[in-house]
Amino acid sequence: MAEGTPAPWWRAGRRVRSPWRAYAVFGVLVALAVQVGPPGPATDSLFVLSSAAAVLATAAGVRRHRPRGAGAWWLLVAGLGAWTLGDATYWLCWWVLDLRGFPGPPDVFYVAAYPLLTAALLRLARQARPARDVEGTIDAAILVVGCGLLSWTFLIAPTLAHAGADPLGAAVSAAYPVGDVLVLGALVRVVTAAGRHSVSSGLFASAALVMLLVDTLYQVATTSGSFDGSGIDWLWQASYVLWGCAALHPSMRRLSDPVPAPETAQFSTTRLLVLTGASLLAPATLVLQLLLGRPPQAWAVVVGSTVLFLLVVARLHALVRRVREQADQLAELARTDPLTGLLNRRSADAELRRLRERAELEGTDLVVGLLDLDRFKVFNDTFGHPAGDRLLVGAATAWRSALAGTGVALARWGGEEFAVLAAGVAPARVERLLADLRAVVPDGQTFSAGLARWDGTEPLEALVARADAALYAAKHAGRACTRTADPGAGPVRPAARRVRSCT
Ligand code: GH3
Ligand code: MG
Ligand code: MG
Repeated sequence: MAEGTPAPWWRAGRRVRSPWRAYAVFGVLVALAVQVGPPGPATDSLFVLSSAAAVLATAAGVRRHRPRGAGAWWLLVAGLGAWTLGDATYWLCWWVLDLRGFPGPPDVFYVAAYPLLTAALLRLARQARPARDVEGTIDAAILVVGCGLLSWTFLIAPTLAHAGADPLGAAVSAAYPVGDVLVLGALVRVVTAAGRHSVSSGLFASAALVMLLVDTLYQVATTSGSFDGSGIDWLWQASYVLWGCAALHPSMRRLSDPVPAPETAQFSTTRLLVLTGASLLAPATLVLQLLLGRPPQAWAVVVGSTVLFLLVVARLHALVRRVREQADQLAELARTDPLTGLLNRRSADAELRRLRERAELEGTDLVVGLLDLDRFKVFNDTFGHPAGDRLLVGAATAWRSALAGTGVALARWGGEEFAVLAAGVAPARVERLLADLRAVVPDGQTFSAGLARWDGTEPLEALVARADAALYAAKHAGRACTRTADPGAGPVRPAARRVRSCT
């Protein structure tokens, strides 16, 4: 075939870019055929076909897109497979074996699908949010308990009451709504854990919601005894098609991508509204029972509302703890310099005030030393700004270790200037410590320093100004040395005492 000639449709089909669309069309056509076809084994077998097609489509999607942690998807394939087996067994029992009672063999597969689906969803949620997510878990629990109470009151309890002498029938009937509540809880975990929403996550959530909706409709209909559930089975097919499309869509890989914590930690208005609604399901259940003229399930409401209340308190506690942690983080950020992690200028000022109080109280020395890297502009110009940053970080790290346990505070005063602040440490000792600091600056970099000892009365600004003047004197004397300001020498007069020969 000549280059550029379009491939014939049957070949082009093998390179279909979006098989999910092709599958969606197929699924909708089969569902339509089931709806319009005459009731009978042939039409019912199409229902089994649509269910099997969903399993194949999901498996094909997993193989095609190879998502991270495919195990969750294979669990979904297993869950859908259990449904297909249920549908196939149902067909066999209904049309061939004439076994039409409830519970029957298909229920084994149908009920088995719920734990598989729940496990699949929980695993997906765990992959998206590997870190412990207490708040997400509580939120899901609130929804599960609220909906569980509703389900208990209007589906499970009446079913159990009806079943009476048929414990197996009661257990199997109750298993469906219980399974739905579990799937709902797991779905909430996936939705709250997932990061940015995608086409696949939308299809995925729709599939689960449609499945829960049709399950619930079917149970309500059969519990009320007025209806056998026919007419809504297309919703099951819709859910099958949606699962398959969710797996075949390329964005399915993003569903299990780990999401950075801050993205999921947001407490959105929607979440607040949903949680409020779920928490109010207890009184709502009671009101509904009263309106319907049913004897209220008082104990269920008592237990449900107590658990909900405790969960809301736990949620509040988790929220307060997070806010406190964030406040601590913010305080730390406001206190430190982002590059070196040392105290910043603001907290150095605060520390200096604190040290002055201590010196006053204990009658000890207060010494301020200002350090300025020598010819650092030249270093930056020669090696680049990032190398300059690395040197600043290296110097800060080395100095921090050198000063550890000495009681001397170290701060980044600004740019390439640092401050050492010491109360209760003799000036001579601070000088020696500065000599230690000289020895550990990386890359042979030098610094000049000015030291000043508080005279016991002068304002802190004057003390700092004397240290600065001493630093200026050290620079003037040739750099790479320390100068000490005379006591009370005043801010304008350069420091006088020569501590060490300048180069
Ligand atoms: P002197 O010996 O007189 O102190 O010379 P100097 O070049 O160190 O002094 P100057 O004040 O002229 O320049 C300081 C330089 O420090 C300017 C700037 O490029 C550099 N500097 C300040 N803050 C940073 C920083 O955060 N990162 C880097 N890489 N460089 C910085
Ligand atoms: Mg400077
Ligand atoms: Mg400098």
